[in-house]
Amino acid sequence: MSSEAQEGQTSNKITCTDVTCPVCGITCDDIEVEVDDVSVVTRNACIMGDAKFKELRSSHRITAPLIEGKEAPWSDAIDKAAEILVNAKRPFFFIGSETATEAMSVGIEIAEMLGGLVDGNATICHGPTVMAIQDVGQVGCTLGETRNRADLDIYWGANPEDSHPRHLSRHSIFQRGFFTGQGRFGRQIMVVDPRRSTTAEHADLHLQLKPGTDFEVLNALMTILSGFEPHESFTEVTGISREDIYKAADLIKEARFGVIWVGLGIASTRGKHYNASMAMRLTQLGNKYGKFVILANRGHCNVAGFNEVLAWQCGFPYAVDFSTGEPRYQPGEYSTVDVLRRGEADALFCMCADLGAHLPKRAVERMCEIPVVSIETAEGPQAFISDVVLPGVLDGMECEGTFYRMDNVPCYARSFIDPPFDFTKSNEDTLIQLRDAIKRKLAARGKTTATVEGTTETGPKATLSEEEFVQRLDTLLSEP
Ligand code: SF4
Repeated sequence: MSSEAQEGQTSNKITCTDVTCPVCGITCDDIEVEVDDVSVVTRNACIMGDAKFKELRSSHRITAPLIEGKEAPWSDAIDKAAEILVNAKRPFFFIGSETATEAMSVGIEIAEMLGGLVDGNATICHGPTVMAIQDVGQVGCTLGETRNRADLDIYWGANPEDSHPRHLSRHSIFQRGFFTGQGRFGRQIMVVDPRRSTTAEHADLHLQLKPGTDFEVLNALMTILSGFEPHESFTEVTGISREDIYKAADLIKEARFGVIWVGLGIASTRGKHYNASMAMRLTQLGNKYGKFVILANRGHCNVAGFNEVLAWQCGFPYAVDFSTGEPRYQPGEYSTVDVLRRGEADALFCMCADLGAHLPKRAVERMCEIPVVSIETAEGPQAFISDVVLPGVLDGMECEGTFYRMDNVPCYARSFIDPPFDFTKSNEDTLIQLRDAIKRKLAARGKTTATVEGTTETGPKATLSEEEFVQRLDTLLSEP
């Protein structure tokens, strides 16, 4: 993706151009970074990207391995982590999206070797959209095509102005592409959202539907495009006038190249993957009139990459159980929150996700009851509840790697600075060391794969009393 770096280093200052941003699914590849011993300055990055690059010099950075909250030698931390995972009967592996696909691949390999369960960030964001893609099929394209060709952008349950700040300027509304030289003036914009979002302020047509009626609105559009009338109760059910739904259908019919950008407003409301499946079908129908595509506004950095890698390695995109020796896929059964809430997992491995800050209370409570191994770059609830913390490397800054963009195009991100420690070069390297330690322990027990002997029980985390532990966790959760 990125062009050759113009990299300069004077005294302790490093300047690097065409850096790939490892924050949201757009994967901008035009960032300039200047970093010295104490500060980081970026150009072209949005506020979210800038904050991530500033992590390079953050005071919250974890730079030493921790065992029960205390600094420990790297080899001890790897050994302890391997021991916890080998001893577990039902280890759960959460492979977060803030790391490269190379590391994800090794994490999945370990989960399979130990007969564990594996899941990723899609489970709490676009999982239903991924299910719909498998169910119906996606008519997709690259971000380059949307930039150069789209004359109709439909944002459905998506507000990229807030979630993907450079989306509108780089890939959609304002961009002047090869066949879209007029920029905003050559594009029609439709927003489907119950809120008057900041993206809706740019819309030629805003369908301000009642919350939870996406399925009905999608259905009505398909009905009109198929030559029929929507049901007489349509306006009462959805809050959208008949005039507006016919205007929306006309925009679709008249588009030369239309894109539906789906956000979590579709996947996370009532109907879930049925909504997303209907959006895929509407896209297929749109192709009767012009070219029509649909893309998911994937939020986190490499969240699409996890679905891709898991699908290469076992055929399924998330929520997989390897306990029988074969991959079994069942969102709602083997997905993170469900397994933790049921109290089923007896050990957790979590990589680059700060999961403790994001899951429902019962799931986090279960995480506090079982041994937890984490790879984390910064202090936070996840590091706090972990028995073993292995310091994370910032992918795309301190090590190279591959991220999948929201259009599922793999993008290479190179490094421009070394990690602040030398016991590991990358999260992939950490996982290879952990995998090898696990193999040695399995071999010592005369095994090469999953073990179900015994389980590691832990008492209260670290040395805190239960009250101190809860107080500290509450404080961490309330910090911005
Ligand atoms: S829009 Fe996304 S990828 Fe681009 S700079 Fe902002 S956070 Fe990074």
